[in-house]
Amino acid sequence: MEPLKTLGRTALADEAVVHLKPPVDPATLTHRQLVDGPFWQRIPAYRAIDEATFLDHGWQARNSITNLPKLLAAVQDLVPPSFYDDVAEGFARAPMSIRVSPYLLSLIDWSDPYADPLRRQFVPVASKLLPDHPRLTLDSLHEQADAPVPGLTHRYPDKALFLTLDTCPVYCRFCTRSYAVGVDTDEVEKVSLKATEDRWARAFRYIAERPELEDIVVSGGDSYQLKARQVSLIGDTLLDIPHIRRIRFATKGPAVMPMKLLTDHEWVDALTRVVEKGRRLHKEVVLHTHFNHPVEITAITQRGLDRLHERGIIVRNQAVLQRGVNDTVAVMQLLVKRLGYCNVQPYYVYVHDLVKGVEDLRTTVQTAIDLEKAVRGVTAGFQTPTFVCDAPGGGGKRVVHSFEHYDRDTGISVWAAPSVKPGYFLYFDPIDTLAPEIQARWTDVAEQDRMVEDAIARAHAQHAASAHASSVRG
Ligand SMILES: *Cc1c(COP(=O)(O)O)cnc(C)c1O
Ligand code: SF4
Repeated sequence: MEPLKTLGRTALADEAVVHLKPPVDPATLTHRQLVDGPFWQRIPAYRAIDEATFLDHGWQARNSITNLPKLLAAVQDLVPPSFYDDVAEGFARAPMSIRVSPYLLSLIDWSDPYADPLRRQFVPVASKLLPDHPRLTLDSLHEQADAPVPGLTHRYPDKALFLTLDTCPVYCRFCTRSYAVGVDTDEVEKVSLKATEDRWARAFRYIAERPELEDIVVSGGDSYQLKARQVSLIGDTLLDIPHIRRIRFATKGPAVMPMKLLTDHEWVDALTRVVEKGRRLHKEVVLHTHFNHPVEITAITQRGLDRLHERGIIVRNQAVLQRGVNDTVAVMQLLVKRLGYCNVQPYYVYVHDLVKGVEDLRTTVQTAIDLEKAVRGVTAGFQTPTFVCDAPGGGGKRVVHSFEHYDRDTGISVWAAPSVKPGYFLYFDPIDTLAPEIQARWTDVAEQDRMVEDAIARAHAQHAASAHASSVRG
C-alpha cells in the first residue's frame, strides 16, 4: 500500500483513528487489477505483433476472424483438432455471422475454450447447442412491427431506436437483431438495414414530425462502424430538431476493440464535437456500451475510457445476462465494480432475449432476480444496474421483479406494460433448466398451450384480486 505520508499531509489527522471494520487486503480488490502488457503474444499468429500494431484499430478490423481457416491460422495448436471440428459444425449451424477481433481472441483462455466466457459469446460449438424454445420467433421483440420507417422503432412514447446500419466490429452469437445484423447465413436471410442516407432521411423526417420524441438511441449494428462524418451528420441532424433532448450512441466497440478510442482520432473527435454541441444546446449526448464480462476490461480499455472521460463523455453499460458467462454472483459483482472503477455506469442487465440458436446461453428469470439481490449494496446505487426482461412481443423492458405471474415450474413469466402496450407479454425460461416431467410437457403442442393459458389466467386472477383490494382500500 502507498505510505500514508505521501497522501497529502495536511488533509490527514495526526492522531490515530478507530477502525470499526478491519481494512480489506488490497490484493482482494480484483476489480482494479486490469490485464496489461502484450497479452496478445500468447496467440501464435500474434507472437511478433508489437504494441503499436495491436493498438491500430485498422489492423484489428482487417485481421478479424470471420471463418474457420482464419481461426485455425491464428490459434493453431493451442487447441486440439477435435475442437476445430466442433467449431466447424457450430459455424454451419449458426444464425449469426462470425466476426471476432484479435483483441477478443487474445483474451480467450485457449487452454479451456469450452468454459471460456468470451468463446461462449462469440464462437459457436455444435456440441453445446440446445434446441430452440418452441415459442421462439426471429425478432422476438417485434422491432420491425413497431417500425414506421425501416430501422426506426418507435415503441415508447418519447423515445425511439434508430438502427443506422447493419454491421458491427464483432458479431455476438446472442444478438437480438440477428434478423438484420450481419450477412446472410445458411440459417437466416437478413432484413436489409444498410447505411443509406435515403433511409436515414426518412427516419429524420419521421422524428422531426413527432413532437413527442425527445430521446433517440442511435444503434445498429453498431455506431463504431459509422464513419466520422456519419457520426457528425446523425448527431447534427438530430440535435437540430428542437424537440430532441437526448441522444445515445450505442456501440459494443469499447468492449471488443477499445484501441479505436486511442487511435481513431477522427471518430473520437466527431463524437466529442456532437457531445459538445449538445452541451451548448443543453442537450445530452452520451455513449452506451455493452461489456458482459470483467475480462473484457483491460488496461487498454481503461486508457480508452479515460480519453472519453477527459472529454466529458458519459458512458453507460448495458449487459446481457448469459449462462456460463456472467450468471454467477462473483462475476456479476466484479463486472459492476470494474465498470464503475473505469467511469462506466452500469445501466441495465438484460435477461437474455429469446434468440435463435443460443438456448445454451439463456438463463431463467429467477437467476436475474437472485443476482440483483447479490449485486445491490456492493457499490453506489447509481452504479448498480437495473435487471430487466425485455418483454417479447414489444412490451419493452420490465424490471425483473415486476412480473404479473411467474411459474418457476413451467418457466413461464407473464408481464404487463400499461404505459407501452395493452395485454400480457410472455417470457419463457430455457427448457433444459426445468424438471424432467415439465420438459416432457413442452414437447407436446397441446400441453404448451395449456401451460401458457394457465399462466395467463393466473396473472389475470392476481391482477383482478389486487385491483379489488385497492378499490376496497379506497
Ligand atoms: C431499449 C429501447 C429503448 C430505450 O429504452 P431505455 O429504457 O430508455 O433505455 C428505446 N426504444 C426501443 C425500441 C428499445 O428497445
Ligand atoms: S454488437 Fe450488438 S448489434 Fe452487433 S452483433 Fe453484437 S449484440 Fe448484435
